[in-house]
Amino acid sequence: MSAGSSTGETVQQRLVFDALVVGGGIAGLQSAIELGDQGYKVLIVEKAPSIGGKMIGLSKVFPTLDCSSCICTPRMAAAAHHENVTIFTYSEVRRTERAGSRFQVEVVRKPRYVHEADCIGCRLCEYACPIHVEHEFEGNLGARKAIYVPFANAIPQLALVDLEHCVFCGLCEKACPTHAINFLQQPEEIAVEVGTIILATGYKMMSPERLKLYGGGRLRNVLTSLQVERLLAPHGPYGRVLRPSDGKAPSSIGYVQCAGSRDQSVGVSYCSRVCCMYAIKQAMLLSGSLPMVDITIYYMDIRAFGKGFEQFFQNAKAMGIEFVKAKVGRITEDENQNPVVRVEVMEQDGRVEERKHDMVVLSLGLLPGWDPSGVVPAEIAEDGFIRSADPLLAPARTTAEGIFVAGAAAGPKDIPDSIVEAGAAAMEAAIYLRRNGSSSNGDERAVNEQAAVVAQGRG
Ligand SMILES: Cc1cc2nc3c(=O)[nH]c(=O)nc-3n(C[C@H](O)[C@H](O)[C@H](O)COP(=O)(O)OP(=O)(O)OC[C@H]3O[C@@H](n4cnc5c(N)ncnc54)[C@H](O)[C@@H]3O)c2cc1C
Repeated sequence: MSAGSSTGETVQQRLVFDALVVGGGIAGLQSAIELGDQGYKVLIVEKAPSIGGKMIGLSKVFPTLDCSSCICTPRMAAAAHHENVTIFTYSEVRRTERAGSRFQVEVVRKPRYVHEADCIGCRLCEYACPIHVEHEFEGNLGARKAIYVPFANAIPQLALVDLEHCVFCGLCEKACPTHAINFLQQPEEIAVEVGTIILATGYKMMSPERLKLYGGGRLRNVLTSLQVERLLAPHGPYGRVLRPSDGKAPSSIGYVQCAGSRDQSVGVSYCSRVCCMYAIKQAMLLSGSLPMVDITIYYMDIRAFGKGFEQFFQNAKAMGIEFVKAKVGRITEDENQNPVVRVEVMEQDGRVEERKHDMVVLSLGLLPGWDPSGVVPAEIAEDGFIRSADPLLAPARTTAEGIFVAGAAAGPKDIPDSIVEAGAAAMEAAIYLRRNGSSSNGDERAVNEQAAVVAQGRG
């Protein structure tokens, strides 16, 4: 293996692991920890600059209302500090080839333009940077700098440069106490051999731009449910719940359920499974943050199928949250940017009404996080999520031998179900490794040393 180069040229590395986990959300982390606990060497490849997936950005979780990041952060740390788990963030799998019962994988580490081994996460570069950019982690409601640490409890705590917005003023370089910034850094290709693969690439939320009748993403006070998670988070973009157009605390909020799911017109006929419960959760949390607020949830059906979910729903009704069985046909806005929803109310024989709110939240459909076609030989199903070989008896098994699936990569699901499936995927992967006698354990020390060099940074 050759070490990286400070001149930034592409360097070939070759590493050997028992398992590759693609995706470092809660499902991927759980699978990796469970395999690591069994003594298998695991590599997590996460495309974002931090692990944690969607869960690390959520406020609280249904139905217990526990703090999401308080549960997720220790899991992230457990994976990051696990002696058998190596994590490549800001990296992607480019190609996979089957070699007998094992796989040869090409991984690309994207350049952060910050030397990982030298960055101490002090954020002095971030404070020095004069550029403000919409912050993706805050649902574009807050701002970040052109050089930034992804978020407060990101793992790893490393800065990265957003070259698209950087003006190359050099202020970050002057502020950096360890001289870690390197604008010449190049993508790095790493050849990896693994015995098994777990796909845990999760979901992405449908873009509101696809829903033209709901404003197509143009109405300032029509938010996505993930944006509301950030508004409700203790360290969210505004520090409290305010509507984006004028910073007013909303006194009336409407939820539009099944926005872009169970809807053939946008090509998503399936149920996104988590929207009923997270809308109820958010409504409860909003009632706590804004004691005078009126909240209406426009729904087709409430699917409260999990343990404790029905009681959660009943509690929300008892708190005064209004549930209206209705289909929202259109959302417009008045001259003060108050969203106006046009609804067909089922309980009133389909009467059409217009109702005005200060803010409207779209419970948007969940789409597959990644299409592995051409990169990993796993099949996708009609809905675009990874196909299970046997959804009844072996849901974590894909149609490709040695490749398993965990969490929302196989279809929308909540955190407890993702965790359970991640455990099942880890167990299936361990059985596969045992059956094929493929383990990197014989070369354990060499693997650890190589992995440590690569994970800690380019030379
Ligand atoms: C608004 C909202 C609120 C919610 N609230 C709750 C709640 O209160 N309780 C609850 O139980 N559930 C809730 N959920 C559901 C919860 O978000 C999911 O159950 C959970 O995030 C699934 O975890 P995952 O790891 O499978 O997927 P994700 O969290 O989507 O993680 C997938 C990871 O894979 C990475 N990835 C994707 N493609 C690639 C690739 N090609 N290469 C490398 N990495 C890749 C992603 O960057 C991401 O880090 C909510 C969902 C939404 C939308």
